[in-house]
Amino acid sequence: MTRLIVTIDGPAGAGKSSVAREVAHRLGLEFLDTGAMYRGVAALAIEQGLDVKNAHEQVVELARSQPLRFDWRHDPPRLFAGEQDMTDRLRGPEVTDAVSEVAKIPHVREVLVDAQRRIGVEHPRLVTEGRDQGSVVFPDADVKFYLDASARVRAQRRVAQLHAMGQPADAPQILQGIIERDYKDSTRKDGPLICPDDAQRIDTSEMTQAQVIDELVRRVELSQTQMK
Ligand code: C5P
Repeated sequence: MTRLIVTIDGPAGAGKSSVAREVAHRLGLEFLDTGAMYRGVAALAIEQGLDVKNAHEQVVELARSQPLRFDWRHDPPRLFAGEQDMTDRLRGPEVTDAVSEVAKIPHVREVLVDAQRRIGVEHPRLVTEGRDQGSVVFPDADVKFYLDASARVRAQRRVAQLHAMGQPADAPQILQGIIERDYKDSTRKDGPLICPDDAQRIDTSEMTQAQVIDELVRRVELSQTQMK
């Protein structure tokens, strides 16, 4: 089986997850949501009552002692810690608030980056999505994308998403949250959010999700024909 690793990085709310999933479907590839793994560690820490800002060593210990694994029989794959299915707990506000703190702990990143590279070996035809997939985890990926959009557009998309789910949305607070997460993600020392030199950067501010998906599929297919 020929390896085909496609990385999609970019800031919070650039629509990476839905795009990455659909691109994977269209190309017949598997899909890895690495944000879910950071959220999984944050959810475990919250469950243990840890203060993620201060209890870094305990959070690292938790990440090491409770390895996360995906169940690939589901689409998208469900995330487990031992026998515990974490999937439905990953998107709540408590986890969302804590996750950037957890993601900046270097030893947590080490554990998860190793796990992601192992997944890349076991699932070599993969669309993987996150902040550092093209820069750190798979520097030799076959195709790299960096999806961007203005903070305002990303906040508007999040508000629309919450409204569609029938949930209340405080637009200024969501915009503030996105700005803060961008700052934390791009200034951390380890695996900061950057656009790798060899990534194709796409500003999606003026594009619909369907257009972004079509564009990425087209570019991956093009890269494959050029390889032949
Ligand atoms: O993509 P998602 O919003 O689920 O990611 C949650 C958080 O996990 C991000 O804000 C970021 O702090 C962290 N993350 C990361 N590296 C990745 C994926 C996510 O630091 N590869």
